[in-house]
Amino acid sequence: MSCFMCKGNLEDKLTNFIADLGNCIIIVKDVPSQVCSQCGEVSYSNDVALQLEKIINKTKSTLTEITVVRYSNVA
Ligand SMILES: [Zn+2]
Repeated sequence: MSCFMCKGNLEDKLTNFIADLGNCIIIVKDVPSQVCSQCGEVSYSNDVALQLEKIINKTKSTLTEITVVRYSNVA
């Protein structure tokens, strides 16, 4: 698989996903992702993207200003 931006090589890496929802920020650590070795573009598989969406929907109701979760603990 290659980067859809620059056609560079994608590497499997754990990255931090940050969602800024305005009144709160959710940080999901160690998310399995593909990172382009050339331009640094980060992409997620469909499964991971769905999980991130679920985590955000679950977490945003806690009304904490900053939430930090580890992906492997919540997915
Ligand atoms: Zn790229």
